[in-house]
Amino acid sequence: MAEQVIIIGSGPAGLTAALYTARADLDPLVIEGFQPGGQLMTTTEVENFPGFVEAVLGPDLISIMRKQAERFGARFRIGDVKAIDLSHPPFTVATEDDALQCQALIVATGASARLLGIESERKLMGHGVSACATCDGFFFRGKQVIVVGGGDSAVEEAGFLTKYAEKVHVVHRRESLRASKIMQDRAFKNPKISFIWDTVVEDILDVNRGVVTAVKLRNVNTQDLTEMPIDGVFIAIGHNPNTAFLAGQIELDSKGFIVCRGDSSRTSVEGVFAAGDVMDPFYKQAVTAAGSGCRAAIDCDNYLALLKET
Ligand code: NAP
Repeated sequence: MAEQVIIIGSGPAGLTAALYTARADLDPLVIEGFQPGGQLMTTTEVENFPGFVEAVLGPDLISIMRKQAERFGARFRIGDVKAIDLSHPPFTVATEDDALQCQALIVATGASARLLGIESERKLMGHGVSACATCDGFFFRGKQVIVVGGGDSAVEEAGFLTKYAEKVHVVHRRESLRASKIMQDRAFKNPKISFIWDTVVEDILDVNRGVVTAVKLRNVNTQDLTEMPIDGVFIAIGHNPNTAFLAGQIELDSKGFIVCRGDSSRTSVEGVFAAGDVMDPFYKQAVTAAGSGCRAAIDCDNYLALLKET
């Protein structure tokens, strides 16, 4: 028999949708996804989630949200969605183990950090290369690091890293930042931050030693290559929404984010709703994700109520 609602994703958006749909007696089933708990699981202190006077650790916040949803009957299934069929209701959601059916679907699969795509970056990830300053900045006390990117994330991460690193060099592929004016001003005033313009990372050394020792940089104007000794490389070039499994089934924007209808969580497919970073290229906060999970649950509840009436 088809589930009333399946929620894909177990970050703050998915867990809030689970809480609200469980309390609405929709008996939700949450498919946790490839990174259960989402991006908060790799975050240390969260200081801006309302309700916590003191900072709460990302994994602890997720654990509390999950227990709260479970208290009202939300069910959880470990695993990732391998295939999906939204061509007609009931929708089919296939995991590694079985094919599930549901009358309504909430997609809350979040986003993953974009990477440069060079082999050394992959090999040295976790060994001096990171995509999360809040997770790994602590390990670079007194060291020299680079941050790659020119948006708000790069500038914010550079500022955060100055708490630990002796020097932070922002490597950007153009000669001006994309980051907002106020964030730029703050970074330009910070004596521990310097900028390397018109430059891309060609390679990260030293794969043979299994640790970051230097970066090979290329000036995009002159094509000059230089080797710069460095202890850490932080990649902050944006995030990609986790929507590959939806391609061709639902409307996505040019960057792959789910397009929602008007001021709602409704997608281009009736009965399918979206919440959190997977449909939000801008705010990307735990609290906004949670809020949008609540909206998706309410939209979903209204949809199923109408369905029962007809
Ligand atoms: P973003 O605005 O898309 O910026 C990505 C940056 O990375 C750009 O400077 C881009 O260069 C560069 N880049 C992209 N691909 C690259 C590649 N392959 N190699 C080298 N550089 C590359 O992403 P974001 O900084 O993560 O911000 C996303 C959204 O969240 C924005 O709307 C931002 O305002 C918001 N945000 C806000 C805050 C805040 O207000 N506190 C903090 C973080 C993020 P180009 O500039 O040349 O395109």
